[in-house]
Amino acid sequence: MSIIQEINCAHCGAPISFEPGEIIATCKYCGYTVVIETGKAFTFEHSMLQNKYDPTQIEEPIKNWMRAGFLKPSDLARKSKIAEKTLVYLPFWIISVEAESIYKGVFERITPPVVKEGKIEKKYDWLALARKATEFPTKEYDVPLAGKIPYNFRKIEAFAKVLNSEVDRNEAVELTRQQIEEHHRYLVQQDVDRIIEMKNEVEVDQIVYLHAPVWFVKYEYKGKTYQLLIDGATGTVIKGDIPSTGFGIF
Ligand SMILES: [Zn+2]
Repeated sequence: MSIIQEINCAHCGAPISFEPGEIIATCKYCGYTVVIETGKAFTFEHSMLQNKYDPTQIEEPIKNWMRAGFLKPSDLARKSKIAEKTLVYLPFWIISVEAESIYKGVFERITPPVVKEGKIEKKYDWLALARKATEFPTKEYDVPLAGKIPYNFRKIEAFAKVLNSEVDRNEAVELTRQQIEEHHRYLVQQDVDRIIEMKNEVEVDQIVYLHAPVWFVKYEYKGKTYQLLIDGATGTVIKGDIPSTGFGIF
């Protein structure tokens, strides 16, 4: 059981509730965002993406997903029942960076092996989930950043849940650096078999705190429950469990 604590909103006076581990909280009555530890206002850019579906409308992209693709059972859309659909605004940090890796390595697939040098230069809008215990496939989520607007509590539906951040800015930047280095290491390994040296530089351009609408859907099919994650801004299925079709041909 988690203990819910409260502080009073410095802007409207309403209670802002938060749970242990949360670092940044947003008032649901006025949209004021506070750094819990200091009680001071969050002063960086806070954005959101808008959800385009209500609980009835979201069934359409769900059914379309169920009907499409040869890996799915042909009766999936007809025989499944949607058991749960919850709209959650998930907190993310979007870290815009310029990253450069200079490397030297040995290409061993030929005889004699040769030493190769190279450079990777890329720009990213890197996505870091601002929650620790929530499982979310950030790599599969192509955030529709073009639709980003300043955070507006009036646009948050009464039936939706807004999650607070459990990851601070510096932690998000550090995580981003690590993940980019890992990603570049992977890219370098496509070019050389053994890395002798590699130097990484990640320069941060911009950091945005963003709430993005994600539908957490559960559906039942032949007695089992499966999960779907849908981008509420576009209706795209971010990740979906597909029931196994088995070998029941005969
Ligand atoms: Zn408030």
